[in-house]
Amino acid sequence: MAGDPQADCLFCKIVAGEVPATIVRETETTVAFRDINPQAPTHVLVIPRVHYPDAASLSAAEPQVVADILRESREVAAGDNIEDTGYRVVFNTGAGAGQTVFHAHLHVLGGRGLQWPPG
Ligand code: IMP
Repeated sequence: MAGDPQADCLFCKIVAGEVPATIVRETETTVAFRDINPQAPTHVLVIPRVHYPDAASLSAAEPQVVADILRESREVAAGDNIEDTGYRVVFNTGAGAGQTVFHAHLHVLGGRGLQWPPG
């Protein structure tokens, strides 16, 4: 069922504590943990506890959780002291945009200069 944990989903396993992760923050609806292959000094993924394959399906079904994720991205930035220098939040949505893990997640990137447009 949409929103339920998926047995074959890596990020559902992180939410369940079955796969280790460096967790930086948790709320009732979200988990934030450091990316295993960081692309910047701060690279944290903020994910919903519920399983939806991408940001589009999550926002259609549970828009409040998307707001929770965005609020958490600010807390992550504050915790890593990158609010003043600037940071980027990204939902890669679909394989063509570089999404490789199909459990919605927001990248929080900062701690170095970031170029625009992204690659
Ligand atoms: P995507 O390419 O937008 O789907 O981002 C997936 C992200 O998950 C990538 O930046 C990966 O480095 C990251 N990732 C994959 N497996 C793990 C893990 O086990 N722990 C933490 N991050 C992971």
